[in-house]
Amino acid sequence: MTAFSTLGLIEPLQSAVREKGYENATPIQAQSIPVILAGRDILAAAQTGTGKTAGFTLPLLQRLVEGEPAKNRSVRALVLTPTRELAAQVAESVAVYGKNLPLRSAVVFGGVSINPQMMKLRGGVDILVATPGRLLDLQGQRAVDLSKVEILVLDEADRMLDMGFIHDIKRILKLLPQSRQNLLFSATFSDEIRQLTKGLLHDPVSIDVAPRNTTTTLVKQTVFQVDKSDKHDILSYMVTNGGWEQVLVFTRTKHGANKLSQQLERDGITSAAIHGNKSQGARTRALADFKNGAVRVLVATDIAARGLDIEQLPHVVNFELPNVPEDYVHRIGRTGRAGATGEAISLVSPEERKLQIDIERLLKRKLDVQPVPYFEPGEKKPMPVLDDVPARRPPQQQRRPQQQQQQQQRRPQQGAGARPANGAPAGQRPQGRSRPNGGANTSGRSSPARTSAPRGDEQPMSNDNVDPRQRFRSR
Ligand code: AMP
Repeated sequence: MTAFSTLGLIEPLQSAVREKGYENATPIQAQSIPVILAGRDILAAAQTGTGKTAGFTLPLLQRLVEGEPAKNRSVRALVLTPTRELAAQVAESVAVYGKNLPLRSAVVFGGVSINPQMMKLRGGVDILVATPGRLLDLQGQRAVDLSKVEILVLDEADRMLDMGFIHDIKRILKLLPQSRQNLLFSATFSDEIRQLTKGLLHDPVSIDVAPRNTTTTLVKQTVFQVDKSDKHDILSYMVTNGGWEQVLVFTRTKHGANKLSQQLERDGITSAAIHGNKSQGARTRALADFKNGAVRVLVATDIAARGLDIEQLPHVVNFELPNVPEDYVHRIGRTGRAGATGEAISLVSPEERKLQIDIERLLKRKLDVQPVPYFEPGEKKPMPVLDDVPARRPPQQQRRPQQQQQQQQRRPQQGAGARPANGAPAGQRPQGRSRPNGGANTSGRSSPARTSAPRGDEQPMSNDNVDPRQRFRSR
């Protein structure tokens, strides 16, 4: 535990931190604050959720307050972020931590009118938080002068490269003075990032709070192997019957995000989609509604969700696995933040097995494959899976036809049997479906036909002859 008072921060910053309610510095803050105060470059491996924003904002404010204020369109500290949302959040942190200091700050990003941003920059700002494209537009219109930048921060540098900002970044670097302090933060480290850091950082101090390309240990990560066509029902079931109040769900496409959000709404679950085709106003509104509880499920694409800071987000669901394994690390970084525990659930269909293997290769460990939980009515915790359930389902070809027939005959009784199907109050679950995942994985005890999720990499889950939707209808 490191107290903020031991890190060399001036009193106005310490009191801002106290007012924010932080008791101790997080590991990245304890390591980065003294080094940045000493004027060194840093290369930090840190995900969102570790407290990295305060880790660079606090010492940056202190260094700026010690120098001459900005004037005439000039900028003294430039923070580049990949997305508008992250820019807005960093700017908010700058305002909160710097509230007791006489420094001026501004935030600029695309998707909103450029004129107010130009006005704000006219007199110069000490700290400018910007996305690369809009910054270059402003520079092209001579609204901002970057030749006096003393400190450059590249936040979430890996994502900036993933999003194709490398050329913009190179153009921006050419506009900056040679002599300056550079701080680079990245959750993952590809060869491309290493290449970038070589030309950018001078004798950097490396700070590594989480082992590279790993996910925070506070996040419980589970895979449910399911059929693609069952995913929406399973998600609705878990949200409703698990009593999940704030869930961030990732889809691969914008269309997929819209569709899922509409399906959830039809199930009576308040939901909003957030992606690149939405206007800035709609994105901000969706995020605010999600934060204040008006919306229970936020469905997002990777780019839109990047850097979202929602305190203590308990549940993240990968409705589809990302194509890029590093995105998995970013996605689940939305939960288990700053010491809180969280749960990341991936709904993996047979066609996504390869993506799961790629992720496991990156993490250098296997993800925990579990049967879809069953919630007793009124219970927020899933029921334990019992030992009498076979851990592995026999391959279809090994099952005798007679066995299959018996299973199908038993199935209709399951929903009405010893275990009540879906404890959700009427109207909270999809019409006409008694058990969202078709009973395939939900419960071990009452279901002789139950097929537990296969462990390991050998089997798709629902290789029953019966279409899962058929099973819903049959009950
Ligand atoms: P970040 O990684 O910068 O996005 O921060 C993640 C979350 O941790 C934010 O909600 C911060 O408000 C919170 N946070 C940052 N520093 C601390 C701290 N020292 N103690 C508790 N929470 C913190």
